Amino acid sequence: MPTTVQRIFNFSSGPAVLPEPVLLEAQRDLFMLPGVGMSVMEISHRSTVFDRVLEDAEATLRAVAGIPDSHAVLFLQGGASLQFSMVPMNLLPAGGRADYVITGVWGQKAIAEARKAGQVQVAGSTEAEGFRRVLRQDELTLDPGAAFVHVTTNNTIYGTQWRTLPETGDVPLVADASSDIFSAPIDISRFGVIYAGGQKNLGPSGVTLVVIRKDLLSRSSESLPTMLNYAVQAANGSRYNTPNTFGIYILGLVARWMQSEGGLEVIGRRNARKAAVLYAEIDRTGFYRGYAERDSRSLMNVTFRLRDEALEETFAREAAREGLDGLKGHRSAGGLRASIYNAFPEAGVDALVQFMREFERTHG
Ligand code: PMP
Repeated sequence: MPTTVQRIFNFSSGPAVLPEPVLLEAQRDLFMLPGVGMSVMEISHRSTVFDRVLEDAEATLRAVAGIPDSHAVLFLQGGASLQFSMVPMNLLPAGGRADYVITGVWGQKAIAEARKAGQVQVAGSTEAEGFRRVLRQDELTLDPGAAFVHVTTNNTIYGTQWRTLPETGDVPLVADASSDIFSAPIDISRFGVIYAGGQKNLGPSGVTLVVIRKDLLSRSSESLPTMLNYAVQAANGSRYNTPNTFGIYILGLVARWMQSEGGLEVIGRRNARKAAVLYAEIDRTGFYRGYAERDSRSLMNVTFRLRDEALEETFAREAAREGLDGLKGHRSAGGLRASIYNAFPEAGVDALVQFMREFERTHG
């Protein structure tokens, strides 16, 4: 079978690029884990070997992201989309109300699920502006009696990101951080719940990280479907049923990689550098233009258009030919998007900038 000797630069929005050392370690250990004689995919989720895999993944994540004891770490399934349902099912009591801040399609999907569980309120929305920005605190209408406030920290499709998350006082802040979790230092104690589908900054798809303040577990009603009950999942150490064992294993390797890179400070600085280089090129001549408003620009998903939008297809196609893959924007937003998550290398950003200059020279 032919093998690709050179990996290309993968700008996919997710599932997305993983750190090469993680892939190589997983490849080495795929046939059998050292000292175990079996693949991680072949061992019981209740074996002592897997106990160690899961404990390691959790401990490393806690260490690298500073997740305090006040919060439980859950490895669930169903993607971030299932959290759109689980959050209100668990946290919204009968007769209660929840606030949703809508800064993109994922927030809209989240509130649509919450409506099925109870009463919701839109605390603010940038839909009328094409979701080109996030909101300022003074633009939000927050209900001090709300059961929680839900936000999307990074809007993958539009390329916007909160610099400062809303202050919600005593109301628990619930965040969908699927596309920027652990992209910079984070104060987990600010969140009631923070969750993310695995497939961007954490590992493969099929494992969902949920970090929840332990006192909120008491809100989960026994009448909930067992698998959708946070308290049950926490009491069973994410193993009420068979979890995504392979996904948890990879997530543990990614957490170790984050540590070995120097932690979230170092990763955050590198992410800022990568995004700055790319936005500088977008802003340089007017041939390209950024989609998001400047003070809302995402460091993870850089969205842009060409002055001549008819050239965008050609751009994506020719870029792919040069080994720059996945630059076509989301189907609902159009344009171009470079997703540059934690594992995306700086050399790939430099290669894209080179390509952008050459494309402008030949098509400008
Ligand atoms: N929220 C955000 C911010 C996302 O980017 C995505 C997926 N791209 C989702 C939710 C949905 O995630 P999943 O496919 O894991 O359900």
